Amino acid sequence: MKYLFIVAHVDDAELAAGGLIASITKRHTVKVISLSHVYNNIDLFNEFMTSMDIFDVQFFAYDFLVRRFSEQQTYICEAIHKEIMNFVPDVVVTHSATDRHTDHKITGELVVRVFSGNLITFLSPWNGNEDPNYFIEIKEDHLQKKLDALKCYKSQSYRLYMNEEFIRAQARYNGIKCGKLYAEGFKLVRGINFADICTVNRECERMNIAERLKL
Ligand SMILES: [Zn+2]
Repeated sequence: MKYLFIVAHVDDAELAAGGLIASITKRHTVKVISLSHVYNNIDLFNEFMTSMDIFDVQFFAYDFLVRRFSEQQTYICEAIHKEIMNFVPDVVVTHSATDRHTDHKITGELVVRVFSGNLITFLSPWNGNEDPNYFIEIKEDHLQKKLDALKCYKSQSYRLYMNEEFIRAQARYNGIKCGKLYAEGFKLVRGINFADICTVNRECERMNIAERLKL
């Protein structure tokens, strides 16, 4: 299976779905596309690269201007379309189109416009309210990997949402909602034969466990 994460800013994928990324990299092909990498004149590409290396996934960053996505929509749409045509993902994960941050909102809207396959979205709690209807259980090692990846963004460490306690609390909060210790919450916007995909995931997980037991 191929998972494509399309995000507005370099740390968005890790913040919203770092646990999901960590939990699928061994069984699936994962690529993360950030539409920008410079924020407040700070180039975050090296921090992004270090973070992606922790997950060991494919990645790429465009250099669209942050907070000016509305002026660049045509080009951003072309970039998203190109990435989807080249990667041919089974599942795309992106921002909710209800996100209050304009860059996130535009990214979410453009992905919905361009992609007609399995689509999962996320919404940061500080950018709006949306009840998740799709949860991914996260194990402690996956949560730790998410935290390690976020620590790569040293220039952003002052931000309240980068706080380890907050990240863990958020994972516990989503976990409580679905009867797990830790989880990440998403919205399944569109699932096509999604039961089959879940079966494939379970089968991969079963084989993975069997392989580990053999070792
Ligand atoms: Zn963002």
